[in-house]
Amino acid sequence: MREKIADTNSASNIVLQCPQCKKPVHWNDRYPHRPFCSKRCQQMDFGEWASEQNTIAGDSVMSDSEDWQDE
Ligand SMILES: [Zn+2]
Repeated sequence: MREKIADTNSASNIVLQCPQCKKPVHWNDRYPHRPFCSKRCQQMDFGEWASEQNTIAGDSVMSDSEDWQDE
């Protein structure tokens, strides 16, 4: 039984959907940022993730300052 990974490497007619803008993305060297269609979409996705992380960090900082005012 052959591994599916070997199949995807040789096949160039696989088409995915960009998670960001839903454009078709062909699984080959023309799309180095796959599964995103472009570097821009890749960075947009990372930006959303980073802002979520910042929100969580900001919450913990706020509860810290509340303890301060208790004194
Ligand atoms: Zn895209």
